[in-house]
Amino acid sequence: MATQAGNASKPALIDPHGRRIDYIRLSVTDKCNLRCFYCLPEGYKDFTEPSSWLSFDEIERVIRAFADLGVRRVRITGGEPLVRKNLSALVAQLNAIDTIDDLSLSTNASLLRRDAPALKQAGIARINVSLDTLLGDRFAQITRNGQLATVLDGLMAAKAAGLTPIKINMVVMKDVNDDETEDMVLFCLEHGFTLRFIETMPMGDSGRSASLQYLDLDIVRKHLAGRFDLIDSVMPGGGPARYMNVKGTDLHIGFITPISQHFCDTCNRVRLSADGTLYLCMGNEHSFALRPLLREGISDDDLKHALLRALALKPRQHDFNSQPGKIVRVMARLGG
Ligand code: SF4
Repeated sequence: MATQAGNASKPALIDPHGRRIDYIRLSVTDKCNLRCFYCLPEGYKDFTEPSSWLSFDEIERVIRAFADLGVRRVRITGGEPLVRKNLSALVAQLNAIDTIDDLSLSTNASLLRRDAPALKQAGIARINVSLDTLLGDRFAQITRNGQLATVLDGLMAAKAAGLTPIKINMVVMKDVNDDETEDMVLFCLEHGFTLRFIETMPMGDSGRSASLQYLDLDIVRKHLAGRFDLIDSVMPGGGPARYMNVKGTDLHIGFITPISQHFCDTCNRVRLSADGTLYLCMGNEHSFALRPLLREGISDDDLKHALLRALALKPRQHDFNSQPGKIVRVMARLGG
């Protein structure tokens, strides 16, 4: 059973395993302008129709209900969220929810030159940017069509707009980009970015084929410790990364290890897909359809009860190691 604890001023949402759920990852589209091979299969066409997506007002209703139950953090993701039109309007609507005190965005940065100032103005405080390589040819190979220059330009636009911190997410893959971890550290040192390394996950066929390049991040940490003086550290943000600091600098390096050292015991999140399906766990298919309820005109109180019923479905952990073939949906459906 999922319960609501705390008090009216500080409600807390507790899942069936006693974990406090204060974070929702909100996918506003599964479409993307890149085609990263570990996320989307070659020639993938199975995107959801925009007509099936929740409207901004429906999204705001769900986030308000979650906020009343104790959620404090919202991360806007995709696919690539910036391909959804007029996203800053949604940001402004969510930013107006008093009890949401951490509103952030995950993006591939290729459209940030266009959108960074408006996102900042609307209420996005900080961003995470997916960047797996600093080599133009390799970037085009990994993304099947991307141009590294637009991403680097987007990053500089985000910096100029005052979005901070900017966290770089690098999916490290053996014999693909694992020779660039030092360069990525130096790049983040130079620009004042935070760096996080992420292990591949068997999400959909594309994720499973990329998992053939799986690399345990402990190998990366040991390699970097040979070059940089790394000390344990912490960073605010509610995410699963375990951080280390490069001594004498402001650089924090995070290690996100869902395979080698999962963090399900301290899971604090749920995910909402663009079509209004609440996924209780990234590594499982447990889900709850909210769109029909919203379109039937459910009341705010009944919506909160529906969210508590949904949360009661939340599993203890993923089965990526024991059942790597389990998850059929692609990463873009929920945005990591
Ligand atoms: S795999 Fe599931 S239980 Fe584990 S951290 Fe992710 S969402 Fe939480």
